Amino acid sequence: MPLFIVIAALFGAVFGSFLNVCILRWGAEPKESIIRPPSHCPNCGIGLRWYDNIPIVSWLVLRGRCRGCRAPISVQYPIIELATALLWAFMVWRHGLSLEALRGAAFGTVLLGIAMTDARAYIIPDELSLGGLALGILFALAAGKQVLGVALLGAAVGFGMLWLVAVAGEWMFKQEAMGGGDIKMMAMVGAFLGWQGTLLTVFLGALIGSLIFVPLSLMGRKKLVPFGIFLAIGAAATYLVGPAILTWYAGYLGRA
Ligand SMILES: [Zn+2]
Repeated sequence: MPLFIVIAALFGAVFGSFLNVCILRWGAEPKESIIRPPSHCPNCGIGLRWYDNIPIVSWLVLRGRCRGCRAPISVQYPIIELATALLWAFMVWRHGLSLEALRGAAFGTVLLGIAMTDARAYIIPDELSLGGLALGILFALAAGKQVLGVALLGAAVGFGMLWLVAVAGEWMFKQEAMGGGDIKMMAMVGAFLGWQGTLLTVFLGALIGSLIFVPLSLMGRKKLVPFGIFLAIGAAATYLVGPAILTWYAGYLGRA
């Protein structure tokens, strides 16, 4: 078992390294290919060798600087690699060597990518939202017809709910309140978490978002809200403890 957890962490670090490229290139305006050009230093253009691309290790060995021109390399790279490694290790620790471990790891990786692109540039790339939706449906398909129904219903509820919020918000505030990226993202979340999990995600996302942004706006800081980050945190929390919250809530309603 410890061996599998270590192997999962190594896989996670490699996926995290790839995720860094996706965040940088899919989250750019205009979007760039993740295949071409090959990785290079944005400052001096020097191509990265395989030994410059070893997750976490290369950054530490180079002490966060380009091999060619010594320009600083963002600490975001090793942090994302480490976070993804821990995520994959955690899923195997929690679910054993199973399809659920892979599903949880894939879901978390996509959520991390979305939170990062939304934080950096207010972009939620289709590759992550719709690509993640396809992944969620594939995992459900692998688990059987009944689970597939749950996933499709969840995706429809996620999409429909955020679409309604977007239409209502636009009507009330006469400006775009919710981006199309958030709507597609919630279709993806619905495919992974089902409709109850989707409702809980939106509730938690709105709650966390308000807790952070209401004080900021009271202090007079007008800033666009990258709502995708809060939805991603809400979705991760729902995956981890959602069933417990929903059971508690059902019991609470039963007592009332
Ligand atoms: Zn350089």
